[in-house]
Amino acid sequence: MASKNRTIGDHVGALLSGYIDGELTQQEGQRVELHCDACADCRQELGDLRALRDDVGNARLSEMGEDVWREKMDDTTVRVSRGIGWLLFIGGILIAAGMAIYEFIIDSSIEPWVKFLFAAIYGGLALLFLSVLRQRLLERKTDKYRDVEI
Ligand SMILES: [Zn+2]
Repeated sequence: MASKNRTIGDHVGALLSGYIDGELTQQEGQRVELHCDACADCRQELGDLRALRDDVGNARLSEMGEDVWREKMDDTTVRVSRGIGWLLFIGGILIAAGMAIYEFIIDSSIEPWVKFLFAAIYGGLALLFLSVLRQRLLERKTDKYRDVEI
C-alpha cells in the first residue's frame, strides 16, 4: 500500500463492492467517498460496479466474489475478439449491401420506384449499423479507463 500521507490516500478498489453493498464501517465509507471525490479512476470503477450490480439485480457483489466480477469486467481477450467479430460482421454486411445496391442500380429490368424502395431500406440499415458502431466505440473508450485502473 502506498503512503497514507498523500491527500487522496490509497486507491479504494478493494472497498468498493462493500461500499455499494453498504457493508463498510462509517469510517471506511467516508474514506471511499473522500477518495472517489478526488480520484477519477476509483470514481470510474465505482460507477462501473454500480452498473454491474444493476446487471446482476439483487445479487451482492461481495457474495459474487472479487474474482468473478473482476473477470467479468476485465476479460480483455473476450473484449478484443468481440471487437474484431463486430468489425468483420459489419464490414461483411456493408460489402454485401453495397454489391446488392450495385446490382439493383445496373439492373434495367427493375422499376425505378423499386430501386428507390430498396435504397431506402439499405440506407436505413446503414444508419443502424453506424449507430451500433458508434456505440461500440464509446464502450471501448470506457473500457480503456478500466484497463488503466485494474
Ligand atoms: Zn483511486
